[in-house]
Amino acid sequence: MTERVLVLNAGSSSLKYRLLDGSTGAAEASGTVERIGEESGTLTHSVGGEDHTEERHVADFEDALRSALDAFDRHGPAIDQGGLAAVGHRVVHGGDLFAAPVVVDDRLLTTVEDLVPLAPLHNPANLEGLRVARRLFPDVPQVAVFDTAFHQTMPEHAYTYAVPLAWREEHRIRRYGFHGTSYAFVSRRAAELLGRPLDDTNMVVLHLGNGASAAAVLGGRSVDTSMGLTPLEGLVMGTRSGDLDPAIHGHLHRELGWSLDDIDRALYRESGLLGLAGANDFREVSQRRAAGDAAATLAFDVYAYRVRKYVGAYYAALGELHAVVLTGGVGQHSAELRAAALGGLFRLGIELDASRNEAPSHDARVVSADGSEVAVLVVPTDEEWEIARQALEVVRGAR
Ligand code: ADP
Repeated sequence: MTERVLVLNAGSSSLKYRLLDGSTGAAEASGTVERIGEESGTLTHSVGGEDHTEERHVADFEDALRSALDAFDRHGPAIDQGGLAAVGHRVVHGGDLFAAPVVVDDRLLTTVEDLVPLAPLHNPANLEGLRVARRLFPDVPQVAVFDTAFHQTMPEHAYTYAVPLAWREEHRIRRYGFHGTSYAFVSRRAAELLGRPLDDTNMVVLHLGNGASAAAVLGGRSVDTSMGLTPLEGLVMGTRSGDLDPAIHGHLHRELGWSLDDIDRALYRESGLLGLAGANDFREVSQRRAAGDAAATLAFDVYAYRVRKYVGAYYAALGELHAVVLTGGVGQHSAELRAAALGGLFRLGIELDASRNEAPSHDARVVSADGSEVAVLVVPTDEEWEIARQALEVVRGAR
């Protein structure tokens, strides 16, 4: 039986794909179709260390997936329905209905559609990806893997907002959390690296990419996370504000006459590092900070301070902490950020080793000092492999 899985991540105007072995994670090819629906789109197909790029109009998701399959035909490897164990889909919002991945059927599509109000930017694109892939691969099981699923273990006191009962009961307003696929992968790898059973390991995991969040993971189960109803809450991100006073909405509306859409757009797309420093890329912020730029220095400080606060809060939530684990582009590569967020915490048992922290690497590694009570780890995430792994598990279970 083949272990080959095609993983699809359909975004609002892009489609990312990877063909990989779900058991070993070995990738055979991957690619991105960008600017779907715009005048000119780009398809990049990477195989055997080579990138094949072409510019052309991509009308919709069906066109995008057909173009990707065409790229497999032309540049390899050959991909046919019989050779696929599953197509694994990233679905952003599963509400409180999915704590595990599921095989896609008509009922599931209706349920994901019902959840659109909770993720109006993401779920419609994910749904389209599911529908198109079902049409193009009718004989291959399609598995939906939800970003929210990992956090369904949060206790009620952690996921409940202090708001009226009707909001919570009728409108499902609560904290859900995201980046769950990454947390599942990273926490398992971190426990392996520590040589401890996952169910006896407590960690604070920091996923610091373009989107950023933190999670408190107790014995392999999420007990709190910084993103909430939407992926806006929590840490400072590339273009998202993270935590702020919810009364800012009313204030902007009353004082400036801004509509809710204006405010949403500003908080999702014009805030975070971009709002603070005029650049959403952490590397650029770091470089400008090193050159003495005041706005970039403030952006870095606000970002690092927010991370540090969450580490303290989640340490308290967990009671006993074995590891702080960093992942995502910033978490994996910025020694400065790790030092700013975790430095001077020896009273909490957290002690970085300066030379380990500063040594560049792409591997999973320990960056704390030998005597540090709490280990500090850097673990590269691999969400596509996790989706493929979970999809295989579901398909095997269903056989
Ligand atoms: P995504 O959330 O889109 O998957 P990534 O996890 O790749 O994003 O993270 C992207 C972020 O990581 C960007 O802000 C980028 O600047 C930052 N980053 C990547 N490499 C480095 C580096 N060497 N030093 C600092 N930041 C980095």
